[in-house]
Amino acid sequence: QAKAHGRNTLRFFDPQMQAAATARSVLEGDLRQGLLRQELLLYYQPVVNDQQRITGVEALVRWAHPQRGMVSPGEFIPLAEQTGLILPLGQWVLEQACAQLVQWADRPETRHLTLSVNVSARQFRHPDFVQLVLDTLSRTGANARCLQLELTESLLLTDVEDMIAKMTELRMEGLRFSLDDFGTGYSSLSYLKRLPLDQLKIDQGFVRDVLVDPNDAAIVRTILALAGSLDLAVVAEGVETEGQLDFLRQSGCRAFQGYLFGRPAPIDRLEQAQGLSLATGSAHGTISG
Ligand code: C2E
Ligand code: MG
Ligand code: MG
Ligand code: MG
Repeated sequence: QAKAHGRNTLRFFDPQMQAAATARSVLEGDLRQGLLRQELLLYYQPVVNDQQRITGVEALVRWAHPQRGMVSPGEFIPLAEQTGLILPLGQWVLEQACAQLVQWADRPETRHLTLSVNVSARQFRHPDFVQLVLDTLSRTGANARCLQLELTESLLLTDVEDMIAKMTELRMEGLRFSLDDFGTGYSSLSYLKRLPLDQLKIDQGFVRDVLVDPNDAAIVRTILALAGSLDLAVVAEGVETEGQLDFLRQSGCRAFQGYLFGRPAPIDRLEQAQGLSLATGSAHGTISG
């Protein structure tokens, strides 16, 4: 149909496509500005153990857009990846996370916590990634042993040798690695065996219907068995109900994350909800300035 209009026909004359493209480039400009204007912030969600005690948190980025309000990462992370803005954005997240670890290191009730940071494929593939992480750790003074990086299976589509080399280097410095959204991507079992991982996160898509869909139940059990034999820890994501928790427990899962234990929230709200700020009282109320 486009051909009938001859060689000079621009595809962008499709009004719907044009509208989408315009919206995207507006959002891209906004995100570029937003990074400069410090409109991004981190929310934190607890990860709990079998006794439902907090063992760590995951940092989840948010964008306080001046007109649209709070924008979720599902809307802007893909755009940031396409445009390369993920590099400064990811670096900012890492710096914030390290600064948070330094705060926690001072207090006995928080110094054991692991902080997990999501790293996108494009960020991880950057040739300087290892050095950037190590520089950030030493500049902030954060303890590498408390930092965990969450990668996704999309990384396996390219240079696996490079991935293994980078992970190995960072692990030698004390960092840990988790494979996020496990089961939704491209992992082959042979890669899984070779990757220097510490943890798998069962994708929330499998947890959601685990009580009603026998296939999801089977997948969850299989992931737990697999992780057991590869000596990997497992976190189940998206746990919302006691029923899901019971099933996961009975299947051998020992770590959980989800609305049942706490929604992602600003750090002071998380600390309050988890009772992490009680011992020191308001003396530490300086975090938010
Ligand atoms: P993810 O790393 O798999 O994070 C888990 C997502 O599940 C989060 O969505 C969290 O809010 C949501 N969630 C947690 N518990 C529950 C629950 O019980 N029920 C339901 N329905 N959802 C739950 P969020 O914060 O919107 O983040 C979405 C994704 O965006 C993340 O998925 C991660 O892939 C990406 N992301 C977030 N922050 C960053 C970041 O700083 N850098 C990069 N590269 N990606 C990020
Ligand atoms: Mg994650
Ligand atoms: Mg996930
Ligand atoms: Mg996800």
